[in-house]
Amino acid sequence: MPIKTPITVAYGDGIGPEIMTATLKILIAANAQIDPEVIEVGEKIYLEGNTTGIPQSAWESLKRTKVLLKGPITTPQGGGYKSLNVTLRKTLGLFANVRPCVAYYPYVPTLHPKMDLVIIRENEEGTYTGIEHRQTEEVYQCLKIVTRPGCERIVHYAFEYARKFNRKKVTCLTKDNIMKMTDGLFHQVFNEIAAQYPEIQHEHYIIDIGTALVAARPERFEVIVTSNLYGDILSDVAAQVAGSVGLAGSANVGNHMAMFEAIHGSAPDIAGKQIANPSGLLNGAIQMLIHINQPETATIIENAWLKTLEDGIHTADIYSAENSKQKVTTDEFADAVIARLGEKPTYFKPVEYKQDVRSKIECYGEIKKSHSKKELVGVDIFIENTKFTPNELGEKISKLSDSMQLIVITSRGLKIWPDSMIDAPDTNQCSCRFQSSPDIKHLKTISHQDIIHLLQEFEKIGLDVIKTENLYTFDGTVGFTLAQGQ
Ligand code: NAD
Repeated sequence: MPIKTPITVAYGDGIGPEIMTATLKILIAANAQIDPEVIEVGEKIYLEGNTTGIPQSAWESLKRTKVLLKGPITTPQGGGYKSLNVTLRKTLGLFANVRPCVAYYPYVPTLHPKMDLVIIRENEEGTYTGIEHRQTEEVYQCLKIVTRPGCERIVHYAFEYARKFNRKKVTCLTKDNIMKMTDGLFHQVFNEIAAQYPEIQHEHYIIDIGTALVAARPERFEVIVTSNLYGDILSDVAAQVAGSVGLAGSANVGNHMAMFEAIHGSAPDIAGKQIANPSGLLNGAIQMLIHINQPETATIIENAWLKTLEDGIHTADIYSAENSKQKVTTDEFADAVIARLGEKPTYFKPVEYKQDVRSKIECYGEIKKSHSKKELVGVDIFIENTKFTPNELGEKISKLSDSMQLIVITSRGLKIWPDSMIDAPDTNQCSCRFQSSPDIKHLKTISHQDIIHLLQEFEKIGLDVIKTENLYTFDGTVGFTLAQGQ
C-alpha cells in the first residue's frame, strides 16, 4: 500500500463547499495518495468570536500536515476582521505566491491565445507589513519594508521554479528609478542571483512599462518575479488578460508549509446553486500534487481537465453557444473530468510533470556572516510645523546642535529650505535633516545622546516632533536617499 500524504482541507465559505467537494472527488478518483484532515476556518469561526478566523485545532492540523488545500473565504472590505489569507501567509511563512496565468482559447475568450506566464510575487514584505500612521491632521504614512533575505528568497525561488518547470526566462519588475533603496535592493539581488543561473535568460523592466507589456504582449513573458503590491496588481491584470480569472489556481509557498487555492473569491451570489466552476480550485490542487511529489497524478488530472474543456463540457461561467456542447453543474463537471482520466487533450498541448526529487522548492535568504560597519551620522526629524515660515524655521533650528548641521528641510520630499522657490508648503508636516557634515564624503560619527539633546532643543521652542529617522552609513556608504537639492 502506498503511503498517503496527510493534507489539511478547509472547505471555505460561499461556493467553497461545492467546489471543494468536486475537487476532492476528482483527486480521489485519480488515485491521488492523500489523506485529508478537514478543518473549519473563515466566516463561521469569526462569527463565533474568534477574530483570527482560525481555531487552535486548525493550527495543530497545519503544523502536522504542512499542506493546506483551501476553499475561498469571505472577508469584509474596508473594516471588520483582518484577512485570514494575510494571517495564514504571514504566520506560516508563505513567502512566495505563485500564479500561473494561462490562456485557454477559444474556450475562454482572450486576445492572447498563446499567453502562458507565471507570476511569482513576494508575499510577506513591502507595503503589506501594514505599518501605517496618521501623523498630522492631513498626513498619513505607510511604511514599505524590504529585507535582503526576503529579496533573496523570492528571487531564488523564481529561478528555481524556472529551472524546475523548464522555463527559459525570468523577468524582474521594480520601480527602482524612484524607490532607489528598497526597489533598488530587489533589482540588485535579482542581478546577483541571475548570475547563478546562466542557462536562464534574465531581464528587468520598470513596473509601469512592464505591466503595460503584460497587458499588450503577454506572450513574451515566461516567469515574472516582483514585490508584494506590484505582484498583487499585476497578477489580476495578467489573469484578466488571459481571460481565465475563474480558472486559475494559486500556490502560497514557504520552506516548511504551503497553501493551495483558487484565485477567485467565495462568490456568495451563486453559492449553493451548483453552478460554480471548480476549475480554479482544481488547478490549485494540481499544483499541490506536484508539491507533494505526486506529479503523475497531477499530469493525469490536468490532461483530463484540458480534454473536458476542449470537449465543450462547460459550467455556466464559460458556457457559450459557439464553443460549448453541454452546460453542466459543478458536480457534473467533476464527473466529466473523472470520465476522462487517462485521456489526453488533442487541441491543447498535453502536460507532463516529471518525477523530481526536488518537488518542494526551498529557498533561504542568505544570513550574512560579516557585518558592515554601521555608523550613526545624522538624523531626519519629522515635525508638524504650525508656527513658522520655512525661512523662520530654518533660522530657529540651524543653531541647535554642536555636533550636527541643519542641511535641508523638506516637505513631502520637496526642499522648502534653504533657497526654496516655495513660500508656503502645501502641508505643515516637514522633515529637518541634520548631518555631522554637509559633505557626505566626510561624515563623522555622532552619538544617540547628540540626537536626544537636539530633540530637547526642539521641544523648548515648542515644535511637535512626529518621529525621527536615524541616518547611518554602512562601511562608509550612506544608508539614506539624498534630499532634493542635496
Ligand atoms: P469573487 O471572485 O468571489 O466573485 C466575482 C464574480 O465571479 C462573481 O460574480 C462570482 O459569481 C463569479 N465567480 C467567482 N468564482 C466563480 C466560480 N468558481 N465559478 C463561477 N463564477 C465564479 O469576488 P468577490 O465577489 O469580490 O468576493 C467575494 C468574497 O470572496 C469577498 O468576501 C472577498 O473578500 C472574498 N475573496 C476571497 C479570496 C480567497 O479566499 N482567496 C479571494 C478573493 C476574494
